[in-house]
Amino acid sequence: MALIVQKYGGTSVGTVERIKAVAEKVAKFQRDGHQIVVVVSAMSGETNRLIGLSQEITAEPTPREMDVLVSTGEQVTIALLSMALNEIGQPARSYTGAQIPIQTDNVHMKARIEKIDELKMRADLNAGRVIVVAGFQGVDFDGNITTLGRGGSDTTAVALAAALKADECQIYTDVDGVYTTDPRVVDKARRLETITFEEMLEMASLGSKVLQIRSVEFAGKYNVPLRVLSSFQEGPGTLITVDDEVDMEKPVISGIAFTRDEAKLTVRNAPDTPGIAYKILGPVGEANIEVDMIVQNVGAQGATDFTFTVHRNEYAKTKKILEKSIQEMGAGELTGDDKIAKISLVGVGMRSHAGVASRMFDTLAKEGVNIEMISTSEIKISVVVAEKYLELAVRALHTAFELDKTD
Ligand code: ASP
Ligand code: MG
Repeated sequence: MALIVQKYGGTSVGTVERIKAVAEKVAKFQRDGHQIVVVVSAMSGETNRLIGLSQEITAEPTPREMDVLVSTGEQVTIALLSMALNEIGQPARSYTGAQIPIQTDNVHMKARIEKIDELKMRADLNAGRVIVVAGFQGVDFDGNITTLGRGGSDTTAVALAAALKADECQIYTDVDGVYTTDPRVVDKARRLETITFEEMLEMASLGSKVLQIRSVEFAGKYNVPLRVLSSFQEGPGTLITVDDEVDMEKPVISGIAFTRDEAKLTVRNAPDTPGIAYKILGPVGEANIEVDMIVQNVGAQGATDFTFTVHRNEYAKTKKILEKSIQEMGAGELTGDDKIAKISLVGVGMRSHAGVASRMFDTLAKEGVNIEMISTSEIKISVVVAEKYLELAVRALHTAFELDKTD
């Protein structure tokens, strides 16, 4: 007998028919002798609909009232799913975040979970009941409803699994696992049997939006075995594991992540003096613009070139800030490009294998793709290329690193 926390996302509970199907699935696990805690999201589109309603009233609703509003979406699904379970003879009880309680801090709309009381849940589980908990929401120490940020139901599920020391946390979604790369770009992309937490964090932060990033951090920290699977088809999904369980046979690279929405800016002939990086990036940081890759060239004749990337949406704003800084510094000219993309090879296997970078560069060279920037970390190598080469480059790398599906 295992204790399993299962989370069903918005599409999996998007209609009454689908809610009934989830109930069947959950009841089957319970009949097989497992104890089940279910976490559900709001029906698909519901959270956005609620946000839309608020915007018809005010451009700036207070965060407290927003949380009261958006948390209702999940209250609907817990009630309907519990009814559906009871209807097919499986005793179940629904709980809002505040009823568990899931205690959070008081930062509305992006609250962090601080404490979960598991007593009530244990009592239900021992009585053979399925517990259905509203995802995404909690309660602060003054009793105010809080929410955990968009996509927060994943984090609720992982946090419950950690509190209950569950055997597994299963995230049911509309994809059947985590892929080597986006299957819409590479049709030979393959589902991964396993991926480590570290790799998953890199993949998630680079745009493979299967799970809320915070839920992966949480699972890694509390060692919760986390599995991503499809609610619409049978299959083992992808298990997210801790690093030391990595199989030595595992390929060097686990996946390729990419983002299209990048832009780069270069300050040419900046004076090569102490404090220059701060003078350039300080005002950018103060404007709350996130900087990703940073490259400074070797100086020559007292001047240096300084390049960095930002999200494409921030390009115009960053450019304005730099134009001002350049004047103040008496530096040369500003150039930029907002049609670039970033491609990253991700894999813990890189740690013990040399030559990943050279194979990457060789592959891109053979395709005639120019590399504009490079950065590396322990388990990742990223390059910036012109956006028009993105798909070609990702496909070539996918093949070169033997990630292609074989059957
Ligand atoms: N319903 C919330 C959202 O749409 C939480 C979630 O789905 O995880 O962001
Ligand atoms: Mg979601």
